Amino acid sequence: MSGILVVMEQQGGAWNRISWETLAAGQQLAAAMGQPLSAAVVGQGGAALAGELGAKKMDRVHVVGHELLGAYTADGYTAALEQLIRKSEPAIVVFPHTYQVRDFAPKLATRFGRVLISDAIGFRVEAGSPTFVRQLFQGKLNADVKSEGAGLQFASIQAGAFRADQVEAGSAPLEDFVPELKPDDIRAKPSEPFRESARAVDLTAADLIVAVGRGIKEKENISLVEELAKALGAELAASRPICDNGWLPMERQVGSSGQTVSPKAYIAIGISGAIQHLVGMKGAKTIVAINKDANAPIFEVADYGIVGDLFEIVPALTEEAKKVKG
Ligand SMILES: Cc1cc2nc3c(=O)[nH]c(=O)nc-3n(C[C@H](O)[C@H](O)[C@H](O)COP(=O)(O)OP(=O)(O)OC[C@H]3O[C@@H](n4cnc5c(N)ncnc54)[C@H](O)[C@@H]3O)c2cc1C
Repeated sequence: MSGILVVMEQQGGAWNRISWETLAAGQQLAAAMGQPLSAAVVGQGGAALAGELGAKKMDRVHVVGHELLGAYTADGYTAALEQLIRKSEPAIVVFPHTYQVRDFAPKLATRFGRVLISDAIGFRVEAGSPTFVRQLFQGKLNADVKSEGAGLQFASIQAGAFRADQVEAGSAPLEDFVPELKPDDIRAKPSEPFRESARAVDLTAADLIVAVGRGIKEKENISLVEELAKALGAELAASRPICDNGWLPMERQVGSSGQTVSPKAYIAIGISGAIQHLVGMKGAKTIVAINKDANAPIFEVADYGIVGDLFEIVPALTEEAKKVKG
């Protein structure tokens, strides 16, 4: 048993973006442990996408295909990956922490008598074995988690924890793997996949984002932050409670159930920094936080922090921005 296997995720022939972040994590883990790296793509459209994977630095790409893997099912993916793992014998299997992975990966780990270390934000390698880091209490504490005993390990990686643009290029041979599956193995009947409604605002393309949270207190006060965004030429975004209240449209929500953004700068105003918000914005190059609570978790990811009352700070910033922009 040796090597790292990254299970990439695709849906309907398009990559799920967090898969690349997980591949970057896999490359770093393989380098730190001095072990080979392989990746697997499962399901319909996998063969077409595998070519892209073959141009990344790793030792092998497994293209796992079968007519019963056309639509995702936990039974199908678990059975197919169990067979691939028994054949290729990796030491560690790494997944992106998506809804789909949450559905089948614990079941897959159980097939090997192991647990899934879920939603890891990083790792350290000591004496050749990894310790994963997970966040507790909405990011207030970091916990070190290690698999006990020898044997296969399973871990999933949190969105935004690694950078997709750090995936190293290279070349890797593609290998087809056809699992043995029978229709009876698959008990679920997949229906139409969930489709998000089209968005009028694409925050993912914005260079500069000003985001507002519950610290703004009332809908009427949003205009304060809107003015700052306008003065800076930034897109306006929000934490979930602001969108849940209908104060801004849902398409402006950043976080695990909103958009994942990676602008050059992200200014978080009156946002506490709950983990579900952080996963959507911590890939920003520079983070500025304004919050009256010096212990707010947002300051842990912020490059610049202002501890104070947003109702004093934001109008002053808007004035300065207007002066600078002339
Ligand atoms: C399954 C699930 C999915 C979720 N998805 C998302 C998601 O996609 N995006 C998301 O954002 N959240 C999401 N959440 C909610 C998340 O857990 C938090 O509840 C939310 O992010 C908190 O929003 P907030 O920071 O605006 O509010 P709060 O946590 O209430 O923080 C408000 C902050 O404003 C500060 N403040 C108050 N007054 C002032 C002032 N005058 N000046 C300066 N600072 C002030 C406070 O100190 C506080 O830190 C999700 C939750 C669950 C369970």
